[in-house]
Amino acid sequence: KKPGMSIIERAKEVAEEFEYGEEDVQRATKHFIKQMNEGLERDGATMGQIPSYVTSVPNGTEKGLYLAVDLGGTNLRICSVDLLGDTKFSILQSKCAIPSELMFAKTAAELFAFLATKIEVFLQTHHSEQLLSHRRKPMEILNQNSLNREGFLQLGFTFSFAFEQHALNRGSLLYWTKGFNIPDAIGKDICGLLQEEIDKLRLPVTVAALVNDTVGTLLARSYEASGTTKTLLGAIFGTGTNGAYVEKMSNLKKMKVSDNPAPTEMIVNTEWGSFDNELSVLPNTPYDIAVDMESLHPGIQMFEKRISGLYLGEILRYAILAIAPFSTTMIIRETSLLYKQFSIDTSFLSTAAADLTSDLSAIRQELAQTLGVEANHEDSEAIRRLVLAIGRRAARLAGVAIAAVVIKSGRLSQSTPRTNLSYPAAEDKPSLISTYSFLPEASTKPAINFFGRFFQWIRAFFLQWTGRLAPKPAIIAPVTSDLPEIVDIGVDGSLIEHYPDFEALIRTALREVDGIGLEGEKRIRIGIAKDGSGVGAALVARMADLRT
Ligand code: ADP
Repeated sequence: KKPGMSIIERAKEVAEEFEYGEEDVQRATKHFIKQMNEGLERDGATMGQIPSYVTSVPNGTEKGLYLAVDLGGTNLRICSVDLLGDTKFSILQSKCAIPSELMFAKTAAELFAFLATKIEVFLQTHHSEQLLSHRRKPMEILNQNSLNREGFLQLGFTFSFAFEQHALNRGSLLYWTKGFNIPDAIGKDICGLLQEEIDKLRLPVTVAALVNDTVGTLLARSYEASGTTKTLLGAIFGTGTNGAYVEKMSNLKKMKVSDNPAPTEMIVNTEWGSFDNELSVLPNTPYDIAVDMESLHPGIQMFEKRISGLYLGEILRYAILAIAPFSTTMIIRETSLLYKQFSIDTSFLSTAAADLTSDLSAIRQELAQTLGVEANHEDSEAIRRLVLAIGRRAARLAGVAIAAVVIKSGRLSQSTPRTNLSYPAAEDKPSLISTYSFLPEASTKPAINFFGRFFQWIRAFFLQWTGRLAPKPAIIAPVTSDLPEIVDIGVDGSLIEHYPDFEALIRTALREVDGIGLEGEKRIRIGIAKDGSGVGAALVARMADLRT
């Protein structure tokens, strides 16, 4: 402890350690593209670049009823999705937390049996007629049905862990990440494991497709945004982080394709959580080192460990421990919860960053409730500084990944013929997350952000209103020249949904990257893929169904 230093001064010092400047972002983006290319060329590269076997994106006209199961890092979601064929859908869903003991189950079967039971409950609740009529069939027909599976519901299984895909409905688990560790499952076929448990319960369900959550997000966004532009990237910022994007087959050098005609594009799951595991461009503060050492999988997922929900609370916990001795009031005893792993959830960062009260009451209340820490105003101010620094760094790193994919795709140098009716509508349609791209510099100052949000809202309202009154652009604009293409990105996950200004902070980083800049950043549209994992899985289940 430095004599005479206040907790605020100490927090400023620690916050500075989280600075990730313009040069860092530039350098990291170049390295990211390099590692993307390496992953496309050979197996076993740092970034997996795993082919998804999905060779087209939806155009919004797809129809049909499908089941979807999403095993995330924290929650299990089960839903049935009715694709209505006009970019709309209706969805029924249930969600439950994954019991922590199942994350360490002895056998894979234990985890998958839990999933099958939840699917059964879901069918009993929402599709009981289908379940009952199936179970009423005589045993001989049931046995026969289990072979041809006529009339079964097709299920898309969103599985948010690294797996190697062998076909749309086959994939083997490569390694566990986030909070899971069930060694028995590694190398096994994930669809097979789930199908086995479903069949034990005699459910009329076929596991038709295995989908990474990022691929699902990309497809769902594509379905909803169709008619405007083709979506390039689906990205998750939740318990973990990852992205999937549309790649040219000619670049996917490690994959031999026997299909005739050969597809021209394929969605590739980057597994970017493992970007720069070697730490050549990523920041590495003492707090990052501590988080990694205490994690379930030390030395891997280094990018993810600086960005995502499972880890940001932990980074903050170590940073608070570094400033706590400078407090005049906070007493951190050896038994304090602050020494306990995962005692700070990342949702606290959102609460703290959004706390605009003059006495920072939300921060103080939450610290008292969850950690039993009595913080005064100065302590809370110091902690808020740490939160903003950690959140800002995470968003800038997320910006690196997005910038790399956008640049690599070459889409910023493409244009769309002006006859394309959809372009002006696409630009005017307000993003589901506020964009702030009209602000000279995205600010972390709450007052400006509040103003920005308000202004954005008014602008969006105005654009929609005038859009309705104005004649359609294609009618008034004769075909003269091309318009620069909008690059559409679908995102999902609690962090990007709830952390204040995460998107604005990402955008600041995007503008700093050569090849994007102010102009390019304006052409990047980011929107939440609503119910992304469910709709995406339904869409892949449909593709698989059509192929068989
Ligand atoms: P999953 O990744 O399992 O599909 P989510 O997208 O909901 O699920 O992400 C859960 C993660 O997000 C958890 O690590 C949690 O700590 C974090 N989280 C939950 N709520 C918030 C919030 N309000 N702000 C930031 N992070 C949050």
